[in-house]
Amino acid sequence: MRLLPILPFILDYPFLRPAKFLAENIQRGMVFNAALERAEEILESLLKRGHYEFKPEDKPFYCSACDKVCRDACDRDAIAEDFLWDRCNLCGECFLRCDYSISPESYREMEIRAKVSVYSYIMMRSAISRAGEGVRRRFATSLARSYRHAMESDQSEILPEILASNFSIKIIKNESLWVHVSDYLKAASRIKSPEWKLVSRNLRRGYVELDALGFYRVVEERMRDAFFEPFTIEIEGLESLMNIVTEYELSRKAGRIEGVKDFDLFPPCMRKIVADLKDSANVPHTARFAITTFMLNVGYSVEEVLDLFRNAPDFDEEKARYQIEHIAGQRGAGKEYDVPSCSTMKTYHNCVAECGVRHPMELYRRRLYEGRGRKAEGK
Ligand code: SF4
Ligand code: SF4
Ligand code: SF4
Repeated sequence: MRLLPILPFILDYPFLRPAKFLAENIQRGMVFNAALERAEEILESLLKRGHYEFKPEDKPFYCSACDKVCRDACDRDAIAEDFLWDRCNLCGECFLRCDYSISPESYREMEIRAKVSVYSYIMMRSAISRAGEGVRRRFATSLARSYRHAMESDQSEILPEILASNFSIKIIKNESLWVHVSDYLKAASRIKSPEWKLVSRNLRRGYVELDALGFYRVVEERMRDAFFEPFTIEIEGLESLMNIVTEYELSRKAGRIEGVKDFDLFPPCMRKIVADLKDSANVPHTARFAITTFMLNVGYSVEEVLDLFRNAPDFDEEKARYQIEHIAGQRGAGKEYDVPSCSTMKTYHNCVAECGVRHPMELYRRRLYEGRGRKAEGK
């Protein structure tokens, strides 16, 4: 049964290497929808509260009771009477060829739940990958800490070996857990606490003695780096997640967006571009074009739009003024440019939410009229 022994571990820890075999060919459907719902819940909690409570389950490790017919799949000679974890890099090839058998219903149920977990993890990574560095760091730190808490309550005896193989951390496990000094120092150098100084530890033959909590703290540092790394899998249909990211980014930057009148009426895509420009982020040309056309269309002057670009890392006043005036129809053939539609914004990855409109101006006008209506009611 494909991946059987590692499925329960992937279910709880979807970043494990063999999860890649479940992530092939992600398609819309029931599993996709369930994963998206889970991703929304986790991402919102991670960004707003800095934590999500994962609940690890009891996990059997079927390989312990098997005669290991998959042995030939391993080119690292890591499968003997038992698994030789110090040789294993958790490539997953043996688990792919697993022929251990459990009830098909239980297997199917486990596979679906593991897929939901993996998809939701990939969805979060994909949505967060387009955010600014501060938000990506918040995500990576919160997710790594949350998984560490899950590991601390996990009853699986084999979990340290699986994590060590996955993150290439050298360990020796006897009555204690020993972590190679180089792996220990990589983590300890970032932890500002006296007990993490090497002199405070028991060091023997190049390995540092740790308890399980200490080991999972080392793993947390590895996870934090892994979750912060650029992520290249792009998935369509994640607008609800991108909305969560955008709202969080905007809430962080709210103080720096003063001076942009009617900012609350701006569609999320335009708010994000303004926030990025104010934050001196490198904003792509298509997004600069979009915000320029939008602001000119809703009544901002060339001078006001120019002011918005002053924080851009490559700001050149003469060039920027020429481009804005050109878009405003004050130069060249006098053509005024339209605000790009939502579908064009999506094509260039400038759409950040699912607003139920076809054009950003439609949303702006709707908000403007609703605002006026509210004012009139208040009179
Ligand atoms: S066949 Fe291999 S992967 Fe499957 S349970 Fe046995 S040892 Fe584990
Ligand atoms: S997961 Fe480990 S034991 Fe299995 S094939 Fe890969 S290296 Fe060998
Ligand atoms: S749906 Fe349209 S208005 Fe909303 S964020 Fe996307 S591009 Fe902007």
